[in-house]
Amino acid sequence: MKSYHKELWFNVPTRRAFVNITPEVEQCLAESGVKEGLLLCNAMHITASVFINDDESGLHHDYEQWLERLAPHEPVDQYRHNGYEDNADAHLKRQIMGREVVVAITGGKLHLGTWEQIFYGEFDGRRKKRVLVKIIGE
Ligand code: ZN
Repeated sequence: MKSYHKELWFNVPTRRAFVNITPEVEQCLAESGVKEGLLLCNAMHITASVFINDDESGLHHDYEQWLERLAPHEPVDQYRHNGYEDNADAHLKRQIMGREVVVAITGGKLHLGTWEQIFYGEFDGRRKKRVLVKIIGE
């Protein structure tokens, strides 16, 4: 069995953003040489997500509005976590958008559904953060 891993670094200039990382993940798969197996991709920070959905700007706007309704950033003093930090909302947003995705590898390609793309969801940006890609298979 082959095994491969790589850490991808991101430094999003805004507090929140959704970044399509499918090309970077496909590059990892190509480097791995795995043709049949599984790929895990996870955020390595508790205020960021990795998730799969459509690369459509209206949907991303809707996510932003929905997440702000669920866990508004302001006022920051509404959260107990915000004694030392101001990112309690980012922890909550990360929880609902998820930590990781697992994608099947078939014929050397990501076996994604129609319109599925892999995203890095940043909820407390303006600093360097990592995403792990781990691939196992033959
Ligand atoms: Zn925090």
